[in-house]
Amino acid sequence: MDDLEQLYQDILLDHYKNPRNHEALRDDEVLADEENPMCGDQVRLTARMVDGRVADVRYDGKGCAISQASASMMTEVLNGKTAEEARALIDQFVQAMRGEREFDAGLPEDLLALSGVRKYPLRVKCATMSWHGMEKVLHQLTD
Ligand code: ZN
Repeated sequence: MDDLEQLYQDILLDHYKNPRNHEALRDDEVLADEENPMCGDQVRLTARMVDGRVADVRYDGKGCAISQASASMMTEVLNGKTAEEARALIDQFVQAMRGEREFDAGLPEDLLALSGVRKYPLRVKCATMSWHGMEKVLHQLTD
């Protein structure tokens, strides 16, 4: 493992062990509930729109380090964005994870820690599931 891979590993584990915006959600505030049966991952999401910006993005769930760290990173990245900016970031991240575009094209730094997951195609779903869930959340908040 080279220095960069080690750094990415450290960032990922930090989000897994010290998740941001993670707390138990009441059933009536859950706006998306994503599952990845292959890995046993679950991510439940909630958020609000405040003055035209995504606020209060929170999640709870369980599963592998990649799925939970990715959800934690996502909450940090999307809080404070407009719905349009949030959708653009989600598209960009999901496309990067699928190898459809470069990973470092303007994505926030912590997300680069997930770039190594692309080497394991079966784990890509672990990294993207919370982002797909957030698309559903935005859909509900803005339509
Ligand atoms: Zn997983």
